[in-house]
Amino acid sequence: MEIIDNMRKKVRDATLSALKASSDLIEISKINMAINSEEQKIKSLMFEMGREVYESYKQGEAVDAELAEMCEEIARAEMDIEDMKLKILEIKNLKRCSGCSAEIDEDYAYCPKCGKKVETEKVNRDEEEEESETASEYEDEDDAEDEMDNDTEEDDE
Ligand SMILES: [Zn+2]
Repeated sequence: MEIIDNMRKKVRDATLSALKASSDLIEISKINMAINSEEQKIKSLMFEMGREVYESYKQGEAVDAELAEMCEEIARAEMDIEDMKLKILEIKNLKRCSGCSAEIDEDYAYCPKCGKKVETEKVNRDEEEEESETASEYEDEDDAEDEMDNDTEEDDE
């Protein structure tokens, strides 16, 4: 009955190695889950780090020149978002209350939510006005950056 014994052994070995393989897979997937969770932690901490830097930059605190550049890009993107949101309001024939930020019909003189008088100026400002406004904002930013650069240089010395 040696042949049958050998067959049994082979089957048992195969079963054992299959079990081993599947427990390995479970182990690996457990480890991968732990890796993912650590990676998420790193991501959210990095996000928080970035936000802290950006908040400092917005409050005019000295920020490393390279970081200031990125902050500037973020600020520009935020302005673009604001412009695009205004564009959507314009398409919907709405304007935003400067008091409570409610979206109200562009014909309303007073905000129905907070009662604040709404500027007669529509959301769709003149192109020229918008451009000059944006330009002056950039100038302010550049000034702020120059000051920061000076601060950083002093710190380095
Ligand atoms: Zn309002």
